[in-house]
Amino acid sequence: MSKNDEKRQRIFDKYVSNRNLLIDNGFLEGEKDTYICPICLEAHKTIDGKDPLSLEDAPPKSLGGKSNTLTCKSCNNEAGHTIDFHLTERLRELDSTAFLPNTETKVKIKFDDQITNATINVDAHGKISMFHSKKNNHPIKLEEQMVGLKGGEVVNLEFLKTRVIPEKLEYALLKTAYILAFERFGNSIIYDSCFDIVREQLNNPDERIYPENFWFTPPYPKEMEGVYFVCDKGLESILVIFNLDTGNSLRKFGVFLPCPVNDIATVLERLNEQFADEKNLTLKLYPWEQDDKYLEDIEQIKTMHQWISNRKK
Ligand SMILES: [Zn+2]
Repeated sequence: MSKNDEKRQRIFDKYVSNRNLLIDNGFLEGEKDTYICPICLEAHKTIDGKDPLSLEDAPPKSLGGKSNTLTCKSCNNEAGHTIDFHLTERLRELDSTAFLPNTETKVKIKFDDQITNATINVDAHGKISMFHSKKNNHPIKLEEQMVGLKGGEVVNLEFLKTRVIPEKLEYALLKTAYILAFERFGNSIIYDSCFDIVREQLNNPDERIYPENFWFTPPYPKEMEGVYFVCDKGLESILVIFNLDTGNSLRKFGVFLPCPVNDIATVLERLNEQFADEKNLTLKLYPWEQDDKYLEDIEQIKTMHQWISNRKK
């Protein structure tokens, strides 16, 4: 068995026994010894079926994420290409347009009404160099421009048009948050119909389904990461906080997910109203300790379900 297979089997067993525990205690109905793909809800009896289960990275691996859950290979590939790309690409762009070390940016330079294509390269020590290649430019015009360009002169830089679609970048944040919530709470609440809107969005990235303004960049310290319940009355939801690390920069994101108490659209409306009014909104988050006992500890699972059903009343 390869290392990859071993890891997949370990994750499979962990989430299958979590699901069995929930079925045995009456929290879930359905067939035991089954792994459900959190993206498409397809049932898997082994790690290597017709559509095998593959390691899912949340956040994406290139942004410092780890693979602690499994999704169908087809779900994994599809979401990777159509959603995650926009997030990794945008963060790369932000790094390079801020001229952070180890980045390269293609730009257009405007000088004397002429446009030159160039590449700005920032090395590991932060030294910035600009390259103009003869291949990408009209050679005679480039020559003229180089002669005209004197040291210390101000030139206009224009960044190339981005390939990033802003909505898809948002869906990538949603996907990371959703997978992290599944990693943390397992099968406990993820199949509640309140999460249908998340899955629908991830499976239809060309349409806007999830309400807007569901993410923000919190001013919390780097160490604060995890999956929390927002306990404030009327704002009950799940807040997932994670860092995205390009290797050059670290950015923190907060994403609001539904919880079975409220409709997420209503929660987001209230949150955005309150935020506009108060500017800094304090939320009651639970739990502070981020252990992974929720998967195997029936007492914690019971407490969580109890909290949800009390709030629903
Ligand atoms: Zn799937």
